[in-house]
Amino acid sequence: MTVEELIVYGKKYTSSTHAKMLLATFLEVNPLELLTILDKVVDDSIINLYKESLKALSENRPIQYVIGHVNFYGLKFKVNENVLIPRFETEELVENIKNYLEKKNITNLKILDLGCGSGVIGLTLKNFFKDADVTLVDISDEALGVARDNAKSLALDVNFIKSDWFENIPLDKYDVIVSNPPYIKTDEEIEEIVRKNEPHLALYGGLDGLDCYRNILKDINNYLKNNYLIAFEIGYLEGQDLKELIKDTLPNSKVIIKKDLSNKDRMLFVEKNID
Ligand code: GLN
Repeated sequence: MTVEELIVYGKKYTSSTHAKMLLATFLEVNPLELLTILDKVVDDSIINLYKESLKALSENRPIQYVIGHVNFYGLKFKVNENVLIPRFETEELVENIKNYLEKKNITNLKILDLGCGSGVIGLTLKNFFKDADVTLVDISDEALGVARDNAKSLALDVNFIKSDWFENIPLDKYDVIVSNPPYIKTDEEIEEIVRKNEPHLALYGGLDGLDCYRNILKDINNYLKNNYLIAFEIGYLEGQDLKELIKDTLPNSKVIIKKDLSNKDRMLFVEKNID
C-alpha cells in the first residue's frame, strides 16, 4: 500500500490528523511531509504497526501511549501506561522554575523531583542546568524504569531513588524541590480517556486531593537549604487550601499561586530568599 492509501485507510478508524500523525511517526517524517511522498510504497512491517496502532486508537487508547513517546519542552520522552502523559501545564511549571533559576544563578545547584513519573520535569531541568545535581524519585519501579530509559536516551546524568515521598531519601539539602504529585480528588469527574488509561497511582490524591502534599510537607523542612524554591503543580481548586498547609509548615516563606494558560490556578511556588 502507498502512503496515500494508508491515510485513506486510517481515516476509517480515527481522525485524519491522528492517522497522519501515526503514519508520519512510523515513517520518521514530519506529518506535513507526507504530502510529498503520497505515492511511496510502504514496508509491510510498518503497515502492520500502523494497523495495530489504528486499532488501539479506535479502542480509545491515548495516542501518546500508542506512539510511545511525546515531545516535552523540545525533548523526546518515552511514555507508556506506567506513567502519566505529560501535560502542557507541566511545561509551564518547568518554565517557571527555569526562569527563577536563571535569575538566581546558584552554584552547586541541587534539585529534587518527587514523583518523577517519566522524568519530564527533572530531566528537562537537568538539560537546562547541566551542572546541577538532579535527583528523580518515584515509588513505582515501572515509572523509574521509564525515567531511566529517558535519561539514557537524552544522555543526562541524574540520580534515581525509589521512595514513597521522602521515606528512602538520604538526608540532604536542596535548592529546588519540585513535584507534580497525584492531586485529583477521589470523587472528581475526569475525562474517560484519562481515567481508563493513565495510572491511578499518579492521578488520585485522596478525598480533598491534598494527601500527597501533606505527605511531602511533613518531611520537607529537613531537605531544604536556607534559601529555596518549592514548586508544585496543583489542582485548579486546591491553591488556597494548600497555601494554608504551607503557612503552618514553612512560616517564613513567600507563597505564590500561578495560573496556567487556561487561566486556572495550576502552580504553587514557595520561596525563601534571605540574601
Ligand atoms: N493534570 C492531570 C489531569 O488533569 C492530573 C495530574 C496530577 O494529578 N498530577 O488529568
